[in-house]
Amino acid sequence: MTYQNYSLKQLQQIDAAHHLHPFTDHKELREAGSRIITHANGPFIYDADGTEILDGMAGLWCVNVGYGRDELAEAAYTQMKELPYYNSFFKCSTPTPVLLSKKLAELAPRGVSQVFYGSSGSEANDTALRLVRHYWALEGKPEKNRIISRKMGYHGSTIAGTSLGGMEPMHKQLGGAVPNIVHVMMPYAYELALPGESDHDFGLRAAKAVEDAILEAGADKVAAFIGEPVMGAGGVKIPPMSYWPEVQRICRKYDVLLMLDEVITGYGRTGEWFAAQTFGIEPDTITTAKALTSGYQPLSALLVGDRIAATLVEKGGEFYHGYTYSGHPVACAVALKNLEIIEREGLVDRVKNDTGPYFAQALQERIAGHNLVGEVRSIGLMGAIEIVKDKATKERYLPSGSAAVVVRDHAIAQGMMLRATGDTMILSPPLIWTRETIDMACERIAKALDLAE
Ligand code: PLP
Repeated sequence: MTYQNYSLKQLQQIDAAHHLHPFTDHKELREAGSRIITHANGPFIYDADGTEILDGMAGLWCVNVGYGRDELAEAAYTQMKELPYYNSFFKCSTPTPVLLSKKLAELAPRGVSQVFYGSSGSEANDTALRLVRHYWALEGKPEKNRIISRKMGYHGSTIAGTSLGGMEPMHKQLGGAVPNIVHVMMPYAYELALPGESDHDFGLRAAKAVEDAILEAGADKVAAFIGEPVMGAGGVKIPPMSYWPEVQRICRKYDVLLMLDEVITGYGRTGEWFAAQTFGIEPDTITTAKALTSGYQPLSALLVGDRIAATLVEKGGEFYHGYTYSGHPVACAVALKNLEIIEREGLVDRVKNDTGPYFAQALQERIAGHNLVGEVRSIGLMGAIEIVKDKATKERYLPSGSAAVVVRDHAIAQGMMLRATGDTMILSPPLIWTRETIDMACERIAKALDLAE
């Protein structure tokens, strides 16, 4: 790599001239210049100036084992030398996706033991959408093809992912959505609970919106409900514990498949291997990606429940679907090693019994009381800080301008990377964070809040 031959300024100029970024206002970017991250180690990232920043987002919700893991680089190197690529099409396979599938079947919730690979969460959700509709067609019910999703849900950026998701600005740029997808209310108590409504009752009411949508369409027209166990990109919206079991009960009642998008929550973030286990549900499909390799390689795994898989195998004939990189041997080798690290270091348990509860307490004790903060909430190592103008009325700074963006910029200047979505600050750190790292993060966030006030 020869980027060292370029100054930061030169890299920024070339970036602005030739690189179209995801989710970016390019005019703004060209004026400001991008922040160029050149290397990373453990929980820290470093920019081209050598500034050390604590990464509160694990990259983009993915680097769960932290940066600088030689073992993962070695797993990739060894596999690349032995067999850099061969496909899993046309009755071929390679060893690493075989062994990874076995491992995932062991870790997955009950009744889920088949895996279909892609390279991204978006691809996996495209696969999931095709699969559930194909399932009902194979069962002789092709008209049972509607999908219920949620407003503000995020399921990726492809046309199917955007259509499944409930982000209005994305819909506006879509130029034609995948048909037969409807969006219902999200389980977001902070803004949507009625005065005096308990968390439990709000969860049941939000689940009822799923039932209402099924009844409006007719159960014989609805294929599936899809949701993130905890809405991530939409602002770490954590549903009441009553929500998911009730959604599952409703889905079972009307024979509607339950699709869980665990692209963020999969592999430990909520303190179990899968958030399905945290919320006590048994979905028909589970979309995973990101932390499967801790972001060291692009890889997604759609975990498919036995009911769907049995129909696909027995009645399906050829499934006309797949990607060149489905089951990529190098990505799967890295995933196997990554899961081994997570197990060996007990990271899932640590989130459940130590760092997760400590994180929750630290946010409550050190951040929640700030004048700019309406609410803090977290589950495992995933958290949100609501920025408000008025704590009592919950009045926001938006739409006149996002205060969260101001706090985020102060935080970065304090050496703390976190994300702003709307007027919500988001945290999703690597699972290697310790109590000391959490203390450091809270100190920097508190300072950023003070500076923004
Ligand atoms: N689903 C969820 C819940 C996500 O958070 C994301 C990405 O953030 C995706 C799907 C899309 O994954 P990818 O960006 O790998 O396509």
